Amino acid sequence: MKILVPVKRVLDYNVKPRVKADGTGVDLANVKMSMNPFDEIAVEEAIRLKEKGAATEIVAVSVGPAKAQETLRTALAMGADRAIHVQTDDEVEPLAVAKILKAIADEETPGLVILGKQAIDDDSNQTGQMLAALLNWGQGTFASKVEVDGSSVNVTREVDGGLETVKLSTPAIVTTDLRLNEPRYATLPNIMKAKSKPLAAKTPGDYGVDTAPRLTITNVVEPAKRSAGIKVGSVDELIAKIKETGVIA
Ligand code: AMP
Repeated sequence: MKILVPVKRVLDYNVKPRVKADGTGVDLANVKMSMNPFDEIAVEEAIRLKEKGAATEIVAVSVGPAKAQETLRTALAMGADRAIHVQTDDEVEPLAVAKILKAIADEETPGLVILGKQAIDDDSNQTGQMLAALLNWGQGTFASKVEVDGSSVNVTREVDGGLETVKLSTPAIVTTDLRLNEPRYATLPNIMKAKSKPLAAKTPGDYGVDTAPRLTITNVVEPAKRSAGIKVGSVDELIAKIKETGVIA
């Protein structure tokens, strides 16, 4: 079984985002970018399935600018076998990404597509679900456990009340939650080996997908700064403060 793993290059999760002065988005100039953390978990899960003998090939895909190739090389260094880079400098919305992934899935016929549950830059949490709809495949989202069982896959999902397990027949879509696994670091020899793994260069046009945005971002603002707290001397004083201000400072 082949596994397709879409990986997105995003602002590194350790970097504090700065909003552009004109409020049109987050300033990405000269900041560290990395693979979306949920996608690292997806790559790791695909590698574990291959190590268990449940998968034969892992193909990483990224839609984005030239530098997205670095993200793909990271996936290759972790253990993916080959990569597809769909190059565009445009901001690509989840629907357009899902349409590109559908075209790739039609060509590659994977048994599983494992995506992150969300990209930490746009927090859309849409691409996996849209891809499942476009392909008409079953989906197991927010996975905390994935077990391949013949031609089906059991996905344990983190839901509000606890855990739910769904059985999907393959081909299927899985999206990863934080507790699914702890991704490995790429070792230096594997980083070197990754440089010679195949990486195909494509464009959205090759898949007949128009990436023109359908949404307009009207404003982006930083979260309000928290004001400093105060110390109270007693429970009575605390209750009085809460009554007075309506909040716990
Ligand atoms: P989102 O719906 O934007 O929150 O993204 C969910 C998941 O879709 C991500 O974790 C990735 O696995 C995948 N994805 C989204 N955008 C891209 C992209 N530009 N290239 C590759 N994969 C993507």
